[in-house]
Amino acid sequence: MTATILNGRELATTMRAEIDEAVVKFKEKYSVTPTIAVVRAGEDPASVSYANAIRRTAERRGMGFSVHVLPETARQEAVVELVRQLSADTSIHGIMVQEPLPKGMDEAAVKEALSPEKDVDGVHAVNAGRLAQVAPAGRPPGVLDYFVPATPAGGLEILKRQNVDISGKHAVVVGRSNIVGKPMSLLLLRQNATVTIAHSRTADLAEVCRSADILCAAVGRAKIITADMVKPGAVVIDFGVNFDDEGNMVGDVDFDAVKDVAGMITPVPGGTGPMTNVILMLNVLEAARRQIKHS
Ligand code: NDP
Repeated sequence: MTATILNGRELATTMRAEIDEAVVKFKEKYSVTPTIAVVRAGEDPASVSYANAIRRTAERRGMGFSVHVLPETARQEAVVELVRQLSADTSIHGIMVQEPLPKGMDEAAVKEALSPEKDVDGVHAVNAGRLAQVAPAGRPPGVLDYFVPATPAGGLEILKRQNVDISGKHAVVVGRSNIVGKPMSLLLLRQNATVTIAHSRTADLAEVCRSADILCAAVGRAKIITADMVKPGAVVIDFGVNFDDEGNMVGDVDFDAVKDVAGMITPVPGGTGPMTNVILMLNVLEAARRQIKHS
């Protein structure tokens, strides 16, 4: 069997066109440019290149972008103050604080300084809490709108647009970070999957993975998911971004071998990666819409 390749690059292109149209309409209606601000402390190369990618994606959509960089030596209070200022600035609708923050900085304190309404990557405790609280069929009464981290939201969008039946299926998510693994498992739960979360202490990872109808990998270890760990016909979503000895980008899944076992699979590159920025832009547009509605 050769798996259907879930082409995130193609889907991202389709969604960018949808966003372009929505942005034009939004600007015509409100005369406001949906704008994202990126905050960074230091010059971590991956963060710099991610910020540049966000800039390109935003500017090509006619959306606003600004980057606010503090030195690696910046004190926590300075980062918190910057995030507070941006949260209070009505010309900015979405804020993303890039990680890693400098060693020793209290990430939670920085995230708390974000306005939850501008937290377009869903890292504030209020947004994470709302995702955890949400009922399968939708929002329970009294739970307000919230934002979900862009990477897992992109993974779910790939499944949805491919009409993958999630309800009642066994989903295994390998990885439990706040930004990928945990929110992905909650998103799948919300879609009525039976969810298992695996991590570095999981006993017999291979056995757990083999029981998955939908297997999501968010580990950060090249090719940790091998063909013998995948149930024939399973849907495999790979969030991993790793580099092999030759410098090629590879996922957490051994793609060449697993594609002969899985039913559907996202490649790396070209799978979940291109979706992240697209979802981020959707969230900025949604944040701007909500802020105008509530102003
Ligand atoms: P983290 O390092 O925060 O989390 C990794 C998770 O993997 C942890 O829960 C850890 O377990 C688990 N883990 C580590 N080793 C093993 C193992 N041997 N067996 C089972 N589980 C293990 O990473 P992130 O969640 O931030 O990122 C995961 C991957 O996704 C990375 O490759 C990252 O680059 C990529 N990524 C991709 C994005 C995209 O746009 N596609 C965006 C963000 C990240 P434990 O909790 O026990 O330590």
